[in-house]
Amino acid sequence: TEEDLFCIGCGAKIQTDDPKGVGYTPQSALKKGLESGELYCQRCFRLRHYNEIQPVSLTDDDFRRLLSQIRDANALIVYVVDIFDFNGSMIPGLHRFVGDNPVLLVGNKEDILPRSLKRSKLTDWLRQQANLNGLRPLATTLLSAKKGSDVDDLLALIDKYRGDRDVYVVGVTNVGKSTLINRILKQNTGVADLITTSRFPGTTLDKIEIPLGEDHVLVDTPGIIHPEQMAHFLSPEALKFVAPQKEIKPRGYQLQDGQTIFLGAVARFDLVKTVGGNKTAGVTAYFENNLPLHRTKLENAENFYENHAGELLTPPTKEELADLPALARHEFKTDTKSDVVIEGLGWVTVPANATVVGWAPKGVNVLLRRAMI
Ligand code: GDP
Repeated sequence: TEEDLFCIGCGAKIQTDDPKGVGYTPQSALKKGLESGELYCQRCFRLRHYNEIQPVSLTDDDFRRLLSQIRDANALIVYVVDIFDFNGSMIPGLHRFVGDNPVLLVGNKEDILPRSLKRSKLTDWLRQQANLNGLRPLATTLLSAKKGSDVDDLLALIDKYRGDRDVYVVGVTNVGKSTLINRILKQNTGVADLITTSRFPGTTLDKIEIPLGEDHVLVDTPGIIHPEQMAHFLSPEALKFVAPQKEIKPRGYQLQDGQTIFLGAVARFDLVKTVGGNKTAGVTAYFENNLPLHRTKLENAENFYENHAGELLTPPTKEELADLPALARHEFKTDTKSDVVIEGLGWVTVPANATVVGWAPKGVNVLLRRAMI
C-alpha cells in the first residue's frame, strides 16, 4: 500500500492527496516510479531534473520533530529571516532546538529596505533582535535572494564556519528560503547527482541534501507555517498591495494628537497623544508603496471605516471585506523612538513619549519594538 512507500531522495512518506504537503507525488508519477524502481516525491523529482527547489511546509508537530533532530545533529544552522517581517520570521523556541550548534543569521529581502539605510546599522539591529529572542548567531548577514546580491558573502561565511558540519537551512514559510537555495544551486553548477539518500530513512521529515562543492552538503528543511500571517486573510489580488516587491519609499506625516492613518482597510494607526506642548509628532510609515494610506480624525475614525472600507479604503474590496476579521486595538506608550509593527504588513516609526494605537485584523500580531531606522 501507499503507506509503505518512501521517496528515495528525501525519505518522506509518499502521498498523492495534498500537492502542497511533504512527500506529494502525482498518481501518474507514482506509477512510473514504481515501475522504474526509482520513486521520488515531486519535490525531489523537480530538484533532480530541473535543479529547482519547491517550497514545502510542515505542521507544528512535524516541524518540532525536525528541529529536535537538528539539536542532535552536528550542524551549522543557516537561519533565514525576512527583514521586512522580522517578527513574523521568528521560529518559536528555535534557540532551544539549536542546542550547541552554531547559527548564521541571514536577513533576506534587503532589496526592500531603503538603500539609504546603512547596512551595518541594520545588521546590528538584526543581531540585537535575535538576542532578544535568545539567539546568539556567530554572524549576521544581509542579502537579497531575489536579486542575487550578497549571496557570495553567505557562502563565504558558510565555508568559514562549517568545519565538518552539515549545513541546515531553516526558516518559516515566505521568508524566501527556496529562492535563496535556488540561487545557491545556480551558482554551484555541475550538480549531477543532487540528491543523496536520506540520512533518516523512513522519517516523514522532508529534508533535502544538496552537495556544496566537493564535500559540502546543504540541507533544505521545510518551512513552518505561521497561521496568523496577514497573507492568510487576503486574496492574491489584495496581497499585491500588501507584500512589498520593490524598495520601500518611506512616507512621512506630521500628525496631530487625535489623528488616524488608515492603511487601506486592513489596518490602522492612531496618534492618541504626545507628551509636551506641541501636540504633534513626525511619524514615518513603511508599507508597500501601492498600499493607499488615508489620514483622518481619530474621533470620526470608526464611522469613516464603516462608510468607506472596501471603497475609499482598499484593499480589500467590498466583496472581500467579509473574509477579513474585525480590526483589533493594541495600545502602546513609547519611551524611545519605536516602531509600531503590524506583522506581515509593515510599521510606523514614532518618536518617544507618545501614546499610539495599532489596529490589525484579529489574530494578526501588533507589537512595539525599538526603531529599526
Ligand atoms: P519560502 O517559503 O521561504 O521558501 O519562500 P519563497 O522562496 O517561496 O519566497 C516567498 C516570496 O518572497 C516570493 O514571492 C519571493 O518572490 C519573495 N522573495 C524571496 N526572496 C526575496 C528577496 O530577496 N527580495 C524580495 N523582494 N522578495 C523575495
